[in-house]
Amino acid sequence: MEIAMTTTETLKSKPDDADLGFGTIFTDYMFNMDYDPDKGWYAPRIEPYEAIKMDPATMFLHYGQGVFEGLKAYRTKSGRIQLFRPQENLKRLNRSSRRLCIPEVDEAFVLDAMKQLITTEKDWVPDAPQTSLYIRPTIIAMDPYLGVRASHTYRFFIIFSPVGAYYPEGFNPIKILVTSDYVRAVRGGIGEAKTPANYAASLLAGEDAHGAGYTQVLWLDGVEQKYLEEVGSMNIFFVIDDEIVTPELNGSILPGITRMSVIELAKHWNEKVSEKKISIDELIRAHASGSLKEVFGAGTAAVISPVGQIKYGDQVITINDNQTGPVAKKYYKAITDIQYGQAEDPMGWIVEVI
Ligand SMILES: *Cc1c(COP(=O)(O)O)cnc(C)c1O
Repeated sequence: MEIAMTTTETLKSKPDDADLGFGTIFTDYMFNMDYDPDKGWYAPRIEPYEAIKMDPATMFLHYGQGVFEGLKAYRTKSGRIQLFRPQENLKRLNRSSRRLCIPEVDEAFVLDAMKQLITTEKDWVPDAPQTSLYIRPTIIAMDPYLGVRASHTYRFFIIFSPVGAYYPEGFNPIKILVTSDYVRAVRGGIGEAKTPANYAASLLAGEDAHGAGYTQVLWLDGVEQKYLEEVGSMNIFFVIDDEIVTPELNGSILPGITRMSVIELAKHWNEKVSEKKISIDELIRAHASGSLKEVFGAGTAAVISPVGQIKYGDQVITINDNQTGPVAKKYYKAITDIQYGQAEDPMGWIVEVI
């Protein structure tokens, strides 16, 4: 399929790298394509970034049938632009789509479209340390219909947002709150799909956590409320004695690409790493016995986010004296060095754009 291109003369002014936050600034162009059952995915096109006009009955607006992805393009010191494991994001997009009854996309074609859009928008990829161009592929159900069923028509789009340094003040630990009042996902639910409803389900718990002075929520499983699952929009890792442990994927945990990268790097380095069920009680016991050395989150936005304090009921545990530990530092550096082209890529994770 040929990608059509509509250009515009009115370009936005680009912000200073120092003023970039997260997700507030959007670039000049977007990628769009549509789906209908007769044509399949059709009319792929790069066109000026603009509002999507929709019927108020559009199914996505009422029933949340949609999926999305999040990844970044990084500028290297030599000025090249590269992606980190984008094929994994597109595979996950299709897995999410299957769960939401959305037709799959051709992963190779979408990767090409993404690269073409990045090439069009190359001047929007910032170059200050820790900055990047955030990429948000999204699919939404478009039928104007109020009955409940899967839509017949869809819109796929990709938008870009230049984002600033996640750690402008240094790589400091966050505080997280274990909630027993709410659950994010349940067995057989949609927890492992990257779909808007999971975020809707998390908002109230997030507000409670913020109100109590915590940055994020650490979710327990939705069935027994006993096993650790993940944090906000990150997966979670524990260093217990000399082993790196993360909750095993169980259908309600989002399978993060940063998570997978930490596991694969640990194996590559012959470090002890395991994916298993771990309960909040085991975690508290590991802390009490002095075995819990570090806790950190892993996700595209922050890459690695050290955790210094966890609150569960009346108990507050402080990890590694509220300091960032050596394991978190090592994985943060290894992954970001690969992303920004400052180190060899022994794993074959980088896809060069230009
Ligand atoms: C996207 C996401 C993650 C992290 O996935 P990455 O691919 O590493 O960015 C973790 N948890 C949730 C709920 C997410 O939506």
